[in-house]
Formats: sequence, C-alpha cells, structure tokens
Amino acid sequence: MRKRILLVTLLVSVVGVLFLSILFSAVFYGQTVERTFSELKIYMNVYEAGYASLPPDEEQAQALSEELGGARVTFLSETGEVLADTGGAEDNHVTREEVQQALLTGEGRSVRTSATLRESMLYYCRAFEQGDTLLLVRLAVPARSGLAIFAESLPTVVWFLVVDILCCLFVAWLATSFVLRPVEQLTQEAALSGGKEVRTKYAELAPIAKMINLMNADLHEKVEKMNEDRRLEKLILNSIEHGIVIFRDPSDVILINRTAKRLLDYEVNEPVPCFVNDREIVAVLEAGENAALVRKINGRYYSFRFTFNEKSRVLLITDVTETTAAAISKNDFIANVTHEMNTPLTSIRGFAELIGAGTMPPDKLKGAADTIIRQSDRLANLIRSIINFSAIDSDELPDYEVDLSELLREIVASFEPKIAEKKISLTFEAEEGVKVLSRRERLLEIINNLVSNGIRYNKEGGALKILLSGGDCPKLVVADTGIGIAEEDKSRIFDRFYTVDKSHNGAGGGFGLGLAIVKKLCRRAGWQLSVESELGKGTAFTILFSAQKK
Ligand code: ADP
Repeated sequence: MRKRILLVTLLVSVVGVLFLSILFSAVFYGQTVERTFSELKIYMNVYEAGYASLPPDEEQAQALSEELGGARVTFLSETGEVLADTGGAEDNHVTREEVQQALLTGEGRSVRTSATLRESMLYYCRAFEQGDTLLLVRLAVPARSGLAIFAESLPTVVWFLVVDILCCLFVAWLATSFVLRPVEQLTQEAALSGGKEVRTKYAELAPIAKMINLMNADLHEKVEKMNEDRRLEKLILNSIEHGIVIFRDPSDVILINRTAKRLLDYEVNEPVPCFVNDREIVAVLEAGENAALVRKINGRYYSFRFTFNEKSRVLLITDVTETTAAAISKNDFIANVTHEMNTPLTSIRGFAELIGAGTMPPDKLKGAADTIIRQSDRLANLIRSIINFSAIDSDELPDYEVDLSELLREIVASFEPKIAEKKISLTFEAEEGVKVLSRRERLLEIINNLVSNGIRYNKEGGALKILLSGGDCPKLVVADTGIGIAEEDKSRIFDRFYTVDKSHNGAGGGFGLGLAIVKKLCRRAGWQLSVESELGKGTAFTILFSAQKK
C-alpha cells in the first residue's frame, strides 16, 4: 500500500511539473511576443521621427536597421512591391498577412516563418501616407517559438523535477507512515490478540476493529466446534474396542486409536513395527490390494483387515479370539468326538463280530455283552451332552418354581454309590424349602455336572461338600478336596470341549461339555457362577441364584 501511494504521488508530481513547465513556457512565449511587438512599435516611432522624410531606399533601410540593433527593415509600395529590404527579399509582399492588415487598418502584425530567411519572425507593418500613395514600412525580428522556450528551460525543469521527486517521496513517505501506523498497530494487535477483543482510538478504524472482532468471534466459535468434534472423534475412536490405523506409509500415520497403539506397540514418529517387520504385511502393503490376515498378540487372535484407498490406507484390527477359539475348539471337538466314538465303536464291532462268528467261548459272552453295553452308554452320553448343549439356545419353555432342596437331595442320593466307591466323605447341608425359578431338567443338568465333577476329579478318600442356603439369594456350593485346577486353566474350563487333561477324555473324564452347559444355563437364567480352586488342594463351585424372575 505504501509503495502504491508513493508511486501515485510520484506520478502526480512528475505530470504536474511537466504540465506547469509547458504552461509557463506557453505563457512566457505569449508575453515575449507581446513585448516584442511593443518594441517593434517603438522602433517604428524611431523610423517615423528620423527616417520618414527620407527616400525609402536600401541605404535608409540599412541605416535604420543598424540603429534598431539589426532588426530587419522592409519598405514596400502599396502594391506590395519591395522597395528596399535588409533581408534581401525582392518578390511582391502584398499577400503577407501583416501587409494585408496594414493596407486595411493602417498597421498589421504576424508571427510566421520567413519565406526569405527561413526562420520564425515577428513582423510589424505600418502604412504611411506619402502624397497620393502609401508607403508600407515593415520591421521584423527573429521570434523564439514556444517549443524553443520549453527546450531552453528543460535543464532547469529536470533539476526541479529531481528535487520535486525527492521532496514528494519524502513527504509521501512521512504521510503514509503517519496514516499507516495506526493501521499497522491495529493489525499487530489483531495478530497478537489471541481471539481477544481488539480496540482502536481512531474512529476511522473502528469499523475495521469491529469487523476483526466479529471475525475473531466467528473463528473462535468454529475452532471450538472443530476442537469439540476432534475430541468427540478421538473419544469414539479410543473407546471402540477395534484398532484403527489410517496411514500413507509405515512411518506416515495419519490417525491411530488407543487400541491399535497398544496392540501394535506404536511409538510416535517411528514406523509401525509390524508394517516393516512382518513379511506378510510388508507384501500386502507393497501389493496395495485389500487383504485380511490373522495375528496372535499376547495370546489373543486379531484379524488385520487392510483396505486401500486412493490417498490413504486403512487397517482395522478386530479381536477374533472368540471365533478363532471356537473354531479351534470345534476342530478339537471333532477330533475328540471322532476319536472317542471310534474307540467304543471298534470295541462294539469287534465283540459283535466275535459273537456273530460263534467263536467266543460261552464263559466270555457275558463280559463281551457288558463291554458292548458300557461302550454304547458312553456313546449315548456323548451324544446326549452335545444335544443338551445345543438345545439350551433354543429352549423357550416357561420357568416354574422348583424345590431346589428336594431336587438336591435326590441327586445326592443318586450319587451315593459312586461316592462310596471312591471312599469320599460327603458333607451335605441343605436348607429346607429353598425354591428357585427355573425348570427341573435345567437344575438337574447343572447339579449333576458339578457333583459328578466333584467326585470324578476328587482323590480317593477325599471330601465333598454340598451346601445350599436360602433367603433372597439362594446359594449352592459344591466343594471338593480333589486335584484342583491350575490358575491358567481356570478361565478356560467353562469353554466348550475344554478339558485340562486330554488323556482322560471319555474315560475317567467327560468331553469338556459339562461346565460349558452349566455356564450357559446360569448365564441365561442370570445366575452368578464362580469357581475357586487350588492345584492339588481342591475346587469349589458357587452359584448365586441372584436374579430371581417372578
Ligand atoms: P468334563 O466332562 O471333562 O468333566 P467339564 O466341562 O465338566 O468336562 O469340565 C471341564 C474340565 O474342568 C475338566 O476336564 C476338568 O479338567 C476340569 N474340572 C471340572 N471340574 C473340576 C473339579 N471339581 N476339580 C478339578 N477339575 C475340574
């Protein structure tokens, strides 16, 4: 802005000076012409006084010219014929402007270029009566043109121009500084205000200050909104359990949420470790095609799904431990079931073949039949467990009040032979009339599983406690002094098909479905199932029948 003001000032002053110079030259030229004509008139008086009585010949003309300091003197007849001329002209001058005027009015003047001398001249002509005729006397001096005057004054004008430009620049600089300082101060204040109100003591700048304040307020509001949005986005991103990474390349991460940071061990300003160390991921990034991988981190399985956009790449990390574990346990189950089914089936088929061939000694027939029955029972047990487990989800039968004390007594009684067989000392304490809202078959399934496990995983001569208390929240405890469960297995014993000791599957132990069924039934009913156990010392399962439906 200052530059612009200086330029405009400069232009105006240069044009002004040039214009004034031309104007002065023109005025000066006009004045010079007038003054010269006045002088020529005075010269004419000199002629009138000293030469008018003398003959108008070359000698007189020369003498007059010398007296007038070299002015050109021409004597003309009234027909324009040149009688004498110090300029050397001989042709008829009747057409000359000053001659024409003199013939008409007695005197005439003109400024023009002389046809004889080829230079600009000022002519003054007067008519004198000489008897019957007229004598025309013309005096002429060289005239300086306006352009010549201007050209002569040019060096002075240039000097003046230089001084004028310097002065103008200095004054303009001072003026702009003076005018612009408040504006600069206001700008500076606005820049440093940090969104606070800007004030000015100059009334002319008040609208600008007002506008800045309005803009500041608007900006502040927008920034606040943006920050709020960002906070919200961050909150959402950080609260979702999935990991999200948006990146351009391994070291150019645009966005990463808390879960992804934790799972990928991400450090700011460092490349994402697995993006440069994991060969398969490196290959996926190089190929730039959408892909999904599964990675195990801290004992859990995560799906890494890469999506490639034009400008960025997105990695979505999802915990697939449950589905992976289910798939694994399903495979285990299929392997176990096939294995477990295979053993009794082979045995049943072997004995059946022997009996069919009639080669078996009669005294061994009963033993063979017992084996066939035992193996068939195991097969039936396995099938029953699987059916029970899958039937829970589709069980929509209505609940009713079940006398848990009575049911428990019946179940304990049914297990007495096994308890005795293993020489287990039983403590059974059940409050009378404890009622639970459920179905008999479900409670039967739960208690059967817990009690049978308490016997199965007990030591020979161990102890088994079955305690039932009533109240608002009935509580059942089944505690044994058996082999106990290791800490690392505790969380998994409720998984489907999970058995601590695989070698016991189907023989002394079951198929890992019992506790899974118990857990599923308790969860559906809203009961709290917990386990306390110490390896080698024993295990206690507790059920709090807390959420009693009415
Ligand atoms: P299973 O039919 O194999 O007993 P469960 O689901 O009932 O299947 O139990 C799962 C696993 O939990 C068992 O294989 C066993 O290792 C462990 N377990 C269950 N109950 C007890 C207990 N009372 N004492 C020690 N281990 C137990």
